[in-house]
Amino acid sequence: MKSATIVTIGDEILIGQVLDTNSQKLAQSLEGIGIHVNRMISIGDSREEIASTLSQALQNSDIVISTGGLGPTKDDITKSVLASLTGSKGFVRHPGQLEMVHTILKSRGLDVLPINLAQADVPDTAEILVNRLGTAPIMIFRNVNGGGTLYALPGVPHEAVGAIPQVVEDVKKHQQLSTILHRNVMVYGLAESALSEKIAPWEDALPKDMHLAYLPNPLTGIRLRLSCYGGESARQMEKMEAEVAKLKEILGDLIYADEDSNLETQIGKLLKKHGLTLSAAESCTGGEIAHLITTVPGSSSYFLGSVTSYAISVKNTVLGVPSSIIEKHGVVSSEVAAAMAEGVRKLTGSDYSVSTTGVAGPGADGDIPEGTVWIGVATPKGTYTVKYNYKNDRKRNIERFSASALNFLRLHIVSELTH
Ligand code: ATP
Ligand code: MG
Repeated sequence: MKSATIVTIGDEILIGQVLDTNSQKLAQSLEGIGIHVNRMISIGDSREEIASTLSQALQNSDIVISTGGLGPTKDDITKSVLASLTGSKGFVRHPGQLEMVHTILKSRGLDVLPINLAQADVPDTAEILVNRLGTAPIMIFRNVNGGGTLYALPGVPHEAVGAIPQVVEDVKKHQQLSTILHRNVMVYGLAESALSEKIAPWEDALPKDMHLAYLPNPLTGIRLRLSCYGGESARQMEKMEAEVAKLKEILGDLIYADEDSNLETQIGKLLKKHGLTLSAAESCTGGEIAHLITTVPGSSSYFLGSVTSYAISVKNTVLGVPSSIIEKHGVVSSEVAAAMAEGVRKLTGSDYSVSTTGVAGPGADGDIPEGTVWIGVATPKGTYTVKYNYKNDRKRNIERFSASALNFLRLHIVSELTH
């Protein structure tokens, strides 16, 4: 497997003024074509640092991608360091990039200064890909001092990211890349540590060329991604399918999709397939559940609507939750969650409904600790509730409440459709 090092150059990264987003985007793209990023390094605008970091990285990796320091100002020294590192005998003005400098400055209504023209000057050791989004060229130095190939990209994020397709194309043309296959499984309802413990024997017994990654997200649960490197793809895919089948036996309905997906999409598929409808009554999630459901294209065919019943008076008058229940059990209770779900189901005439009532925080509400949520689901066969407690900030809590409500709903739809 080919390896890469990403080097981001710029004092502003080291002093915490900008977040290095270039590395993340580059790493995602390299991973996508089966290149293993073994290091990400951020360094300042120092001649010695740039020279030593790049030459060392080029000895350790097949590919090195640097961003930053190609601009026209005095602090941008990457280009001259690269010239000496690669034994360049001088600079040449690149016609394609020169034209781009003129075009870009003209379109911005700016005069072309000598300092701008110098942007198109490149070491004679470089191959050039024209940067159409900015004035600094994209430079390629192949087999530097007998080592890897260096791609030097501008630092401006939209230019660096914009250069990725050109870089990827060049990498594919010049490197023998091994195939990489991915297979995703979506899991909801277990913490990462509990999940890892549960599947440890399976994971330990995976074939050596298969790799498992845990990719958690508060809204979608945990994406388990199996990757297979090298080999013939049809056979590898078969091998991965066999492993996924074993995993399904271990995890059962903790798995909600056997592709990269999310809860709202899977719920939508189920409802659509069986011609069923849904509504929601939300208190502490403030509409997040309805929002998630309606991000799915075609949700209008099964989602009837929702009531954001934040105030007790709205729970009361719109959803028909009796005051006596609220007074007796408190607003954050199993009884109120159930009454909300039943109320909105009746109001809209939907087959299924889901509700939430809880405390997103910060701070407790009386004796109800922050992060508490009661979820209700009303179905043609009955009404069910469940309580969860999370310990995040307000925004995270709302996400977790919503995702847990969707998952609780999913489990009831699945169970009623299969029993
Ligand atoms: P320019 O021609 O604009 O000077 P450059 O190649 O010299 O481009 P830099 O001067 O290093 O690039 O950075 C340009 C801008 O991009 C700056 O605002 C900088 O903060 C930002 N930037 C640089 N590197 C990164 C990075 N790794 N992630 C996010 N932003 C970055
Ligand atoms: Mg600059």
